[in-house]
Amino acid sequence: SLNFSAGPAQLPLPVLEQLRDELLDWRGTGASVAELSHRGKPFMALAEEIEADARRLLAVPDSHAILFLSGGATTQQALIPMNLCAAGETADYLVTGHWSKVAIKQASAVCAVHTVASAEDDGFLRLPEKSQWTHTKGAAYFHVTGNETIHGVELFNLPEATQAPLVVDLSSNIASRPTDFSKIGLAYAGAQKNLGPSGITLTIVSRELLAREGMQRPDIFKFASHAAQGSMLNTPPTLNWYILGLCIRWMLGEGGTAAFEARNLAKSSLLYATIDQSAGFYTNSVAADCRSRMNIPFVLHDAALDAVFLEESERAGMIGLKGHKALGGMRASLYNAIALKDIEALCAFMRDFQMRHG
Ligand code: PLP
Repeated sequence: SLNFSAGPAQLPLPVLEQLRDELLDWRGTGASVAELSHRGKPFMALAEEIEADARRLLAVPDSHAILFLSGGATTQQALIPMNLCAAGETADYLVTGHWSKVAIKQASAVCAVHTVASAEDDGFLRLPEKSQWTHTKGAAYFHVTGNETIHGVELFNLPEATQAPLVVDLSSNIASRPTDFSKIGLAYAGAQKNLGPSGITLTIVSRELLAREGMQRPDIFKFASHAAQGSMLNTPPTLNWYILGLCIRWMLGEGGTAAFEARNLAKSSLLYATIDQSAGFYTNSVAADCRSRMNIPFVLHDAALDAVFLEESERAGMIGLKGHKALGGMRASLYNAIALKDIEALCAFMRDFQMRHG
C-alpha cells in the first residue's frame, strides 16, 4: 500500500528490502544488529558512519553537535527549556498550530513562556502577522515550529535571528529541503516522518548552547552529557538508529535535500492544484505562502462522503488519508519516501472519486 499517514510514515522500499536482507546476519557478525552491544566495535563504527552521513545530508556545520536520542520530539520540547533556560528566564514561542501549543505546554511546566504571536484566531490558516510579533528582551531562546503537521502550515523562511537563539521543531519537514543550520541554535525532529522509524530523535544543537548551564536537572536530561558520550549515555534504540542510517543513506543516494526539495515542490503543487481545481469538491484553506509541502489537510464538500472516500481509497491501495480528529476531513502526508508517481495516483483517484460522487 501507499501510506499517506502523518507518521509513523512510509519507509522507502529499498530501505525495507535492505532491512529484511540484513536482519538475521548484519555485516557478517552472525547476529542481528538489534542484538549487538552498542559499545561493541561494529555498532560504534555504524554510529560514526551515520553521524557523518547525517552531517553531509543536512549540511550541519562543525559548530553543531548531532544527538541521537530516544523519547520523541515531545521529550525534546520538555528538555529544551531545562537545558537552555536559567532559573527565572523566559522563553519566547511563536504559535502557528497545534504542535506550537504542545511545545508551550511542555515548556511552561519548567519555565516562563511568552507567546510572540499566535495565529489561533485565524484558525491557523495563515502565519501570525509579523508586525504584531512581540519579543521578550533577554529571552533564553525563540521557538518556532518549522511545519505544523496537523494544520498543514509551513514556515518557509525562518525568522531573522533576534538576540535569542532560534529553536526549531523540524519534526515533519527535516530533510525536505536544504536548511541553513548555522542560523539555528537548536533543531529537533522525531525521525518517524521524513527520516525513518519512530523511537529515535535527532537533536542538532550548537556547541555554544551546549555550554549553557540550564536548570538543575538529572544528568540523563542534559544534552551536553549525551553529546559527550556520543549519544550513548544509556542504551540507545540501536535498531531504530540503524534504520535511520539506512534512510539517510537512501536520501543521499537520491541526490540529497536539494533533490527532495524539487520533488516535494512538484508533489505538493500537483496535489494543491487537484484540490484547487475541484470547484469546491475538495478544499484546503491555508494561505498560499505557508501551505505545507509535507502535510496537506483537505475537506470534502460533503462530510457524509468521508467514510466512502476512506473506504474506496483503501481499496485502491492508499492508506492513512484520514484527517486529524481536530480538523476532520482528510490529510495526505507527502514525506520524502512518497514519490511523484504516488501523488499522481492519489490525484487520479481523487478526480475519479469526484466524477462518481460529485
Ligand atoms: N512536533 C511535530 C511538528 C509533530 O508533528 C509531532 C508528532 O507528530 C511532534 C512534535 C511530537 O512528536 P513525538 O510523537 O515524536 O513526541
